[in-house]
Amino acid sequence: MEYIQAVKGMNDILPHDIGWWQKVEATAREVLETFGYREIRTPLVEKLELFARSIGESTDIVEKEMYAFPDRKGRWLTLRPEATASIVRAFIERNLQSDPLARKFYTLGPMFRHERPQKGRYRQFHQIDAEAFGIDDPMLDAEIMFMLRCFLEKLGIGGVKLHINSLGCRECRKPFRESLQAFLEERIAALCPDCARRSRVNPLRAFDCKVEQCREQMEEAPALLDFLCRDCAEHFEAVKRHLDRLETPYRIDPRMVRGLDYYMRTTFEVITDQLGAQNAVGGGGRYDGLMKDLGGPDLPGIGFAIGMERLILLLQQSQDGTLKTPEIFLASVGDDARDRCFLMVQRLRDRGVAAEMEYGNAGLKSQMRRADKLGARYVLILGQDEIQRNAAPLRDMIEKNQVEVPLATAVDFLTEFIRKHSTRNR
Ligand code: ATP
Ligand code: MG
Repeated sequence: MEYIQAVKGMNDILPHDIGWWQKVEATAREVLETFGYREIRTPLVEKLELFARSIGESTDIVEKEMYAFPDRKGRWLTLRPEATASIVRAFIERNLQSDPLARKFYTLGPMFRHERPQKGRYRQFHQIDAEAFGIDDPMLDAEIMFMLRCFLEKLGIGGVKLHINSLGCRECRKPFRESLQAFLEERIAALCPDCARRSRVNPLRAFDCKVEQCREQMEEAPALLDFLCRDCAEHFEAVKRHLDRLETPYRIDPRMVRGLDYYMRTTFEVITDQLGAQNAVGGGGRYDGLMKDLGGPDLPGIGFAIGMERLILLLQQSQDGTLKTPEIFLASVGDDARDRCFLMVQRLRDRGVAAEMEYGNAGLKSQMRRADKLGARYVLILGQDEIQRNAAPLRDMIEKNQVEVPLATAVDFLTEFIRKHSTRNR
């Protein structure tokens, strides 16, 4: 019979690769929590309008990429395409403003966008997302980029570049928008249909277009940096100054706008040259008007998201994997020995030792093969002889030597032994 396949662009993360994911997740939690971020988990499904209103109606995400569907009562829902809007919603709805601990949040989890699947681009993918509310101090902008760098360094990912820009505020965007519209109008024939259409409603989107021809045109477009009002210019100067003091190198990219409409002032992206077309590892920025636009208090916000699949692709290119192996394997000959091993395995596990044995009635040879395949370094071999003399050999499969284990206190002995000798992370 034909088997049922997974949905296109949605991946299984297999045990063989899970070590990478766990490493990335553990490092993310460690670094983010050190910088004062607290975990929040919001639903994967939200009302459609949450994203239409925040990300912007004429963005790629809202126009083409969202998984939207009516529920049984005809209300429009969507699988979340990103986490910022959900966290802002939760902050407003749960009245977190009154909670002194709730200023910096992070979440790890799947996002959904209906894009053309390719290396580094999937329909279900995972993000590490961080958001901070209520602080407009440019120190926080620099801190967040510094944190991103610390995180990547901790993972051992090199060769990435930080690009920064300022998108100004609503005030400085007005004259810029006019100037940009005039520019696009002149070149409308050379733009892709999307950009031509959007040039009236949302001209900034043309900067984010991936069509080569549009990219070329936009090289000559006016830059927002030349239009910044005094406050925005000062804010951006301060961000750069703090980054310099934190010895965090950056490049100013006056044409980076990011794919979501809610960004204001500081925006940034972490770029790699090692993933082909999917060159953005992560990105983020300020969204000072978003909370108010979504019906909440007028609090500023800043955040970023990192794509975990892309991070892991980078890690796999430069580092060896970390497959989890059992610490000890118990092999047996005969029913009595097998029963004893079964008990010992469970007791060892209960004490936190990753012990294994083979199920079914396998011969010693096949048990040893299994221990080898699993990568167990130590193997205890228990047979009738060993039971009679109350001791069994524990073999070190790498050093090829062995020690005697007293059976009366075997579980204590092995727990202690593994604690001393295991190289496994606990
Ligand atoms: P891109 O320009 O590559 O489409 P984006 O600007 O749409 O990225 P963001 O919305 O800023 O991406 O999301 C932050 C990060 O999430 C990206 O830098 C990327 O690493 C990751 N990401 C975004 N979309 C996908 C996807 N479809 N598959 C895998 N990772 C993704
Ligand atoms: Mg995208």
